[in-house]
Amino acid sequence: MKTEVVVIGGGATGAGVLRDLALRGIEAVLLEQEELTSGTSGRNHGLLHSGARYAVNDPDSARECLAENKILKKIASPCIEPTGGFFLALPQDPPHYADDLLRACAGLDLPAVEVPPADVLQKEPALSPKIKRAICVPDASIDPFRLIRSNVEEAERLGAKIFPHRRVVAIFTADGTIHGLQAIDSKTGEEFHIACRFIINAAGVWAGSVARMAGARLDILFSKGSLVVLNRRLVNSVINRCRPPSNGDILVPHGPALIIGTTSQTVTAIEDPSPEEEEVDLLLSEGETILPEIGSTRAIRAYAGVRPLMGAREAGEDSRKISRDFLLLDHGEADQIKGLFSIVGGKLTTYRLMAERTVDEIVKAMGGKTSCTTAGKPLPFPKEIFLFLVPFSFSVLGALKISLLFWPLKI
Ligand SMILES: Cc1cc2nc3c(=O)[nH]c(=O)nc-3n(C[C@H](O)[C@H](O)[C@H](O)COP(=O)(O)OP(=O)(O)OC[C@H]3O[C@@H](n4cnc5c(N)ncnc54)[C@H](O)[C@@H]3O)c2cc1C
Repeated sequence: MKTEVVVIGGGATGAGVLRDLALRGIEAVLLEQEELTSGTSGRNHGLLHSGARYAVNDPDSARECLAENKILKKIASPCIEPTGGFFLALPQDPPHYADDLLRACAGLDLPAVEVPPADVLQKEPALSPKIKRAICVPDASIDPFRLIRSNVEEAERLGAKIFPHRRVVAIFTADGTIHGLQAIDSKTGEEFHIACRFIINAAGVWAGSVARMAGARLDILFSKGSLVVLNRRLVNSVINRCRPPSNGDILVPHGPALIIGTTSQTVTAIEDPSPEEEEVDLLLSEGETILPEIGSTRAIRAYAGVRPLMGAREAGEDSRKISRDFLLLDHGEADQIKGLFSIVGGKLTTYRLMAERTVDEIVKAMGGKTSCTTAGKPLPFPKEIFLFLVPFSFSVLGALKISLLFWPLKI
């Protein structure tokens, strides 16, 4: 096979890059070693950040989240529930943090409004009555599975090709320039060769090992985070603790469930991350302080994901202090390997911006001029939503027919 660009990784970043390439008319193929979303993109909290979480300590990430929050609410509305969110201070939280947060948000033009705790309790009666202060922010919940599906569906419609279960095992260069790669079909073991001019490494926590295949260097710190799913949607808004980011300080409602997260633990193993018992206990007890009903609610599942964090050389460093910003690396400049780009880190919330910046670089390297259109072009409705709606509408119609059948009996 021959193509212009190969994207490695079928998470949010790779899917966003593929759509952007396709919309700019650039021929591209995406390879994913497992299923789409099998990496961190299918193992996160599903919070569409407003940026408030990073406003105090990481203003660049906060600014990017805020801008993307606004864009995604417009272009990806079928994947988003505009729940709104609160930062809530309990008596044990640092008393100055609410003011620090309000000041930092004001500096970023991030709409954060202090509201009386009584109003929050009226809206969310299950919350602890001990809330001292409450700040309302435009957080939301986002479904990463639908988001990624709709990105790849549109890319495919525009001619891009997607191959799940193809693990890239070798990258070929000649005279310091990319000219292709080799992948293996993880189901059949069959080998797969693709000739290409550009490779975009969007392999998340595996990006370092992909870069090494080309002889390039990428230092990544791995930070595992665990989450717990409750079988009841105890609140309808995103709830954040009003304190510096820490364990178990965010609750996100998703459909009928509620997800509590997260922890942050520096790890060396990245395959099949799983939550530990102590992490689950910690998340449940932290959650219970702000939402007492958690103590009597059933936890139905726990899972974990690994974040690739950039900019830390020592594995012992506190991973929460490292910026959640992303890194776009042109290995032509960094390692004298022309045609290889890595895009790593960031957030699910900033996936579109990461894709835009990456494809801008590719277009520049190609000597082209096409500009990005993804910020203004709504994503298509993912097909899987129709699959859900069709049986649902049948069941609604069915229920209607049955009630019409019994209607004469009722009167
Ligand atoms: C616990 C936790 C909670 C989080 N919560 C949020 C949140 O609420 N909101 C938010 O905005 N962000 C959140 N994030 C961050 C967000 O999940 C990530 O930034 C985002 O999902 C990263 O997407 P990605 O596509 O870069 O990486 P991934 O989703 O990991 O995708 C990389 C893909 O590359 C594939 N791959 C790797 N090597 C190869 C190879 N050799 N060949 C082919 N394919 C390969 C992998 O299988 C994988 O599917 C959270 C992260 C964690 C860990």
